[in-house]
Amino acid sequence: MTRMLIIGPPGSGKGTQAERISERLGVVAISTGDIFRANVKGETPLGLEAKKYMDNGDFVPDSVTNKMVRDRLNESDVENGFLLDGYPRTTAQVDYLDEILADGDEKLDVVLQLTADDEELVHRLLGRAKETGRSDDNEAVIRHRLDLYHEQTEAVVAKYADRGILTRVDGIGPIDEVTNRVMQAIKAAQAA
Ligand code: AMP
Repeated sequence: MTRMLIIGPPGSGKGTQAERISERLGVVAISTGDIFRANVKGETPLGLEAKKYMDNGDFVPDSVTNKMVRDRLNESDVENGFLLDGYPRTTAQVDYLDEILADGDEKLDVVLQLTADDEELVHRLLGRAKETGRSDDNEAVIRHRLDLYHEQTEAVVAKYADRGILTRVDGIGPIDEVTNRVMQAIKAAQAA
């Protein structure tokens, strides 16, 4: 049983690593960005609301995001643990997640932060924009998403560091190498 978070700036490869961790640990990976994108594609009311923010690189408001996460964490496939990717991104979301977990008498085991420098991230994301055509992957929006990460999500990381459950992994390098680092870091954190 593992309950963990993966946090990293846009372009750090957290989605790719989350899928691999999920396979290896046998826990479900839940990406708030993926849930939003699926809703945008399906043109659901949630998707139409979220799209307004996502296209500008802004955070979707907590009133929308928090409820969506609570509902997802109440589904039955989460009983064996979970890996949350892309949530929490603000300290208010940390408080909300604390409440959800406390309600279920649960706690987080590991918080993994993938690190990479901004210029490398901008370069990667501009490359991804060409491949995927993601509407939030143009340079102005990319820089705004990075700014939000520094302004808001680094405070989230600091909170988990204070709690002693943060482990940092260098996200630069070949994907398999980063996965090896990630799996080692998780193992070490679980053994601690
Ligand atoms: P991601 O795929 O994690 O980069 O997320 C893509 C976009 O979805 C973000 O730029 C936000 O607009 C939105 N989003 C994802 N997770 C959250 C969250 N925890 N809080 C607010 N907005 C989010």
